[in-house]
Amino acid sequence: MADQETDVVVVGAGPGGYAAAFHSADLGMQTTMVDTRERPGGVCLFVGCIPSKTLLSAADLLQDAEEADQFGIKFGKPEIQLDKLRQFKEKVVDKLTSGLSDIARLRKVQFIQARATFESSNTLLLEGNGPSRLRFKHAVLATGSVPMTLPGIDLKSPRLMDSTGALALEDVPASLLVVGGGYIGLELGSVYAALGSKVTVVELLDGLLPGVDRDLVRPLDKRVRKLFAGVHLKTKVVGIREVKEGLEVEFDGDINPKRQTFSRVLVSVGRRPSSTGIGLENTKAKINAKGFVEIDRQCRTADPAISAIGDVAGQPMLAHKAMREGKVAVEVIAGRKSVFDNRAIPAVVFTNPEIAWAGMMDAEAKAAGRKFKVVRFPWAASGRAVSLGRTEGLTKMLFDEETGQVLGVGITGPHAGELIAEGTLAIEMGAVAEDLAVTIHTHPTLSETVGEVAEAFLGQATHIYRK
Ligand code: FAD
Repeated sequence: MADQETDVVVVGAGPGGYAAAFHSADLGMQTTMVDTRERPGGVCLFVGCIPSKTLLSAADLLQDAEEADQFGIKFGKPEIQLDKLRQFKEKVVDKLTSGLSDIARLRKVQFIQARATFESSNTLLLEGNGPSRLRFKHAVLATGSVPMTLPGIDLKSPRLMDSTGALALEDVPASLLVVGGGYIGLELGSVYAALGSKVTVVELLDGLLPGVDRDLVRPLDKRVRKLFAGVHLKTKVVGIREVKEGLEVEFDGDINPKRQTFSRVLVSVGRRPSSTGIGLENTKAKINAKGFVEIDRQCRTADPAISAIGDVAGQPMLAHKAMREGKVAVEVIAGRKSVFDNRAIPAVVFTNPEIAWAGMMDAEAKAAGRKFKVVRFPWAASGRAVSLGRTEGLTKMLFDEETGQVLGVGITGPHAGELIAEGTLAIEMGAVAEDLAVTIHTHPTLSETVGEVAEAFLGQATHIYRK
């Protein structure tokens, strides 16, 4: 097909890409979005955030039913209709991604299904349905990331899965080994454990969720050790081979026996940016040692015609960070004085309990040389947590020692992912402890714990007493 021209092309239609494309059209620019998938949505909607959270909702239901005993309610053994659960998940993905196609049409954003490669700083070669070459004034690179594989293991087997394979939910394996105790491994491991698999998790480092604040991880660690058949830290997978009963895995580290067989293995050892094989060498954009495209605070690469956002442009690899960057990138293209100057990028681990944090936790505050005070509120003192039968959680906050400014908020417990929004807003608005302490929090809710932490920083909190 003949060549085409556009003002702004967005390469990759994940949450970063579609947020950029929609905003670009809203700002009055002629916009084209290119993705290899048939619709916008990217990793997040097709094989990431959305399908994983759908399956986790089912897992939560199963766990709640199992724990209903404490309320004097007993359910029988659940019957799992795997086909129906899979169909439900697919329906959710379908509904949301077709919604995005409709919104693109309404905003007059052209969507082309194709693989794009940069031919130069102002042309893309397209392999797919549509034009074979697209000339552009500005490009926003939003090609995201892909799962990393285990170094030294080149086995090809349907039993050896990445997160995409695990989300396909082909069966409920009798036993599942999860390699990597990061958030994707723990979330998907929790789904399979709730559905009935015997799940073992191995992690190379000395704690689950490496890099996450230890106060926040502790309650989850305790709970998953009951949910999973085994959690082995400082343990490395050194070999995997296919045998009649499944995959025989060889380990090095804190696990015995050193060879064990599993029905399936999920490798969740991180993701790498999709920055190679897309012709960036034909542009002036630069890639750093970790494979991320280098950008400035306005999401501009070293090539004046190309911006980059989302997973391909750096950590944290999270959908909401990609969306915010997408908006900044196109505002800058439109000539606005926009900058990615957010103080907090919140993060959530959607396990049971959930873990969420925003801003600085202890390690970052120390590294930044801040003088700070940490205050923790145990959920055992929250009326709502007690009434839910879930008292293992905590809310902690870091305050600037002198000014009382909120530096960081961390929450572990049910609904932490929703509760963190108040903390994020507090940090973004430069709130001090008093702002949160005098804000009226509805009773009885888990949100009261945020107000009480702030009260405790100022002296005493109503529901805890400290000498
Ligand atoms: P992506 O969503 O990765 O989309 C990039 C798109 O670009 C893809 O569709 C890809 O096919 C396309 N593409 C790549 N190369 C080309 C090319 N050359 N030409 C055309 N198209 C191309 N994040 C959260 O914030 N919350 C969560 O709960 C969460 N859960 C997750 C669970 C799982 C199992 C996984 C895997 C990830 C999860 N993430 C979550 C991470 C989240 O999915 C990513 O941070 C997010 O999708 C990044 O968005 P993006 O726009 O940068 O790119």
